[in-house]
Amino acid sequence: MSKFPRLEIDLNKLKHNIDKVVEKCGERGIFVSGVIKGFNGIVDLTKVYNLTGCSSIGTSRIEQVIEAKAAGVKGPFSMIRVPMLSEVDEIVKHCEFSLNSEKVVLDAINEACIKQGKRHGVVLMADLGDLREGFWDKEEMIKIAGYVENQLSNVDLRGVGTNLGCYGSIKATPEKLEELIEIAEEIEKGIGRQLEIISGGGTTTLPIVFDGTVPKRINHLRIGEGIILAYDMMIQFGVDMSFLNQDVFTLQAEVIEVKDKPSYPVGELSFDAFGQVGEYEDRGIRRRALVALGKVDFAYADMLITRNKNIEVLGASSDHLILDIEKCKDDIAVGDIVEFDLCYATIVFATSSKNIKLSIKDIN
Ligand SMILES: *Cc1c(COP(=O)(O)O)cnc(C)c1O
Repeated sequence: MSKFPRLEIDLNKLKHNIDKVVEKCGERGIFVSGVIKGFNGIVDLTKVYNLTGCSSIGTSRIEQVIEAKAAGVKGPFSMIRVPMLSEVDEIVKHCEFSLNSEKVVLDAINEACIKQGKRHGVVLMADLGDLREGFWDKEEMIKIAGYVENQLSNVDLRGVGTNLGCYGSIKATPEKLEELIEIAEEIEKGIGRQLEIISGGGTTTLPIVFDGTVPKRINHLRIGEGIILAYDMMIQFGVDMSFLNQDVFTLQAEVIEVKDKPSYPVGELSFDAFGQVGEYEDRGIRRRALVALGKVDFAYADMLITRNKNIEVLGASSDHLILDIEKCKDDIAVGDIVEFDLCYATIVFATSSKNIKLSIKDIN
């Protein structure tokens, strides 16, 4: 079997990132749940979280938890996508806690717990405007919190949480998180005790942790991208993440053709392979390289980041990537390997593509 395309993963660099994020959050009294869904729960990587101070391992897919446990990874595990009714039995069986927003699911969790002779923790999600999961009606949320506390025999109300910057692109600000704390304190008044967890989001909350403006009562975050890539917040928000490795992952692919060609297509323009009309700039004849991987491996060609800054990504079809190598034309030949950095938009595809081989550098 061919060795390429290949994803090189450096577990030492991953561990460094987890340790640093856990340390920085720890300075503010914040526990970190390490979120593994960004790399599709590849077990060799998930294992590394057990060597660190993460308080739990989180993911949106129960399959990844089951696989991790089978490989000997230790929990606690948290289900961070609000559960499907049809997977509640498995979630109770395999996860210590889950994020929730529906009474009917909470009832089903309690039933499953009774059946399995177990207890399960829940964190109730508040939607503060990002418009994905969570209670919109805060009175309803407070009422359900009381219901879980007093009526569900085997379910433990562990706390509240929110998610920002996933669908609605809403920024995590101290003011938004104060709203979450207000809800938490209303719930605490009702149930007569302190909540254990106030979970203030994911990577998009890291900037206000680093600058110290995160509200004091936030004591839990669920961090995926900010650990595994530490790239998106730096590029999109200008947050200094230079103390983390941006190169835990290196995507490598092989050059299969190198030729001088026109930069503007020749003939009548119609649709490309994905039903779109491409945009092409006429820059005359230029040297291009064709590389053996494509959109099925990374989805978004314009989100690939070339390590060699003299290489430009022109576009891709399902199995071909087209590069402009005019600026480094003498350095690249057929059979050479080109390297790319990944961002969140591309890594979720690269780690789920069965074409891409893994090459894992173990902890030393
Ligand atoms: C994916 C996810 C996270 C982690 O997000 P990152 O941006 O990768 O840190 C946290 N919480 C929930 C509910 C998620 O779905």
